[in-house]
Amino acid sequence: MYEFAVTPAVTNIRRRGVEISEVAPDSLGAEMDLESGDRIIKVNGRVVRDYLDFRFHTAGETDLVLEVRKKSGEDWEVELERSEGEDFGLAFEQIVPRQCANACIFCFCNGNPADARPSLFIKDEDVRLSFLYGNYTTLTSITEDEMRRIVEQRLSPQYVSVHATDLDVRAYLLGIDKERADISTKLSRLLDAGIEVHAQVVLCPGINDGEVLTKTIEDLAAEYPRITSVAIVPLGLTRYNTDARLTRVTPEFCREVIDQVGRIQKELHARLGTNFALLGDEIYLRAGRRIPARAHYGDYPQIEDGVGMVRSFKNEFAKLVRRLEREDWTSDGNKSGTIFTGTLFAPVLKEMIDDLNARFRMSLVVEPLENGYFGGDVSVAGLLTGQDLLSARDRVTGNFVCIPKQMLKSDDAIMLDGMKLSEVSRALGQPVHAVNLQELATLLLNKN
Ligand code: SF4
Repeated sequence: MYEFAVTPAVTNIRRRGVEISEVAPDSLGAEMDLESGDRIIKVNGRVVRDYLDFRFHTAGETDLVLEVRKKSGEDWEVELERSEGEDFGLAFEQIVPRQCANACIFCFCNGNPADARPSLFIKDEDVRLSFLYGNYTTLTSITEDEMRRIVEQRLSPQYVSVHATDLDVRAYLLGIDKERADISTKLSRLLDAGIEVHAQVVLCPGINDGEVLTKTIEDLAAEYPRITSVAIVPLGLTRYNTDARLTRVTPEFCREVIDQVGRIQKELHARLGTNFALLGDEIYLRAGRRIPARAHYGDYPQIEDGVGMVRSFKNEFAKLVRRLEREDWTSDGNKSGTIFTGTLFAPVLKEMIDDLNARFRMSLVVEPLENGYFGGDVSVAGLLTGQDLLSARDRVTGNFVCIPKQMLKSDDAIMLDGMKLSEVSRALGQPVHAVNLQELATLLLNKN
């Protein structure tokens, strides 16, 4: 596995340049006779490794020379002038993620069934994806090339999995030696260069909790505002995680963490004006405690990591309901359907939907969907499968079904077990809408 550590992450070593996947009609790209399948190799003499490079090298440039390897194998040199900010009308191939070189004891890959889709075993650790999508990296095997690129191209913010600032504990969790686990110099270099960093801790009972956690939060907070926030999310174990070093997260553990971190948040808020350390929604839900108020989360710095997502949804939903009430809106009387979601979030959603049913005379039912594929304490919506839905078909009522959008691949209507949305819809005998929380609110409360 270690060979990945020395593979330049930012270079596509097999094929030069970046491939164009789509050219918009009547765009600048179309005028230049560019086609999907062509590869842009250089811009004004500068090598292009991926679309971030293309974006960086073309930014602010009006006179451009592109070196293009055509799909046919010909090499073209294309000269063009464009007005400032004019779009090329080009879409590019997705970035192939760099693989990580760690052996984290809690790695999600260890929790996959042996026959899971190969994509579930991809251990991405890529600073480009961190910048683009908020994916976390550990910085343990970041190359000099990547470090320079983050700074030069301002790939900020970066999301960093710290887990513990105690070096022994970090090395143990990541399954690497202390020398590689120590990212203090790299982190300082990024922070000194003005790169914003958000940190993450995956909390493993008995390993990086208690005093180790307190120290981690305090060490990171010492760098505030250069380090903007730390998200603390619980370890999740499937039934396939049998590593004896790992202990399952219990409701009692979550309550202790809320109390411990609550005290630190209070102190940090008084000192820094921010809670800085934010607990994942899952911790409150597992603990059976109330989700904190809006102000607790500031500007929701790590909402995509499930930190404040529930609060944000509840507030947006309540706002929408209030607006409809002001407008004297009434349902068309045809809103009768089943909403499936993960077991942890289901009680929260049920309370909201029951309220909606009462206010607007709807007949919506929230059904918790157990995860039969991964089992264990996996209760998040993103890991549910088509089979899970089929095994709940007896619970479908009404004339439509909603499922969480995270159940689908980001670029295709396929679930983790390979089942297509259309197949599920046929099997359930109902239209199935895959929606995120905002889309769910709009779908249920539209005026049509
Ligand atoms: S948890 Fe992340 S960093 Fe750790 S081994 Fe898995 S993919 Fe790599």
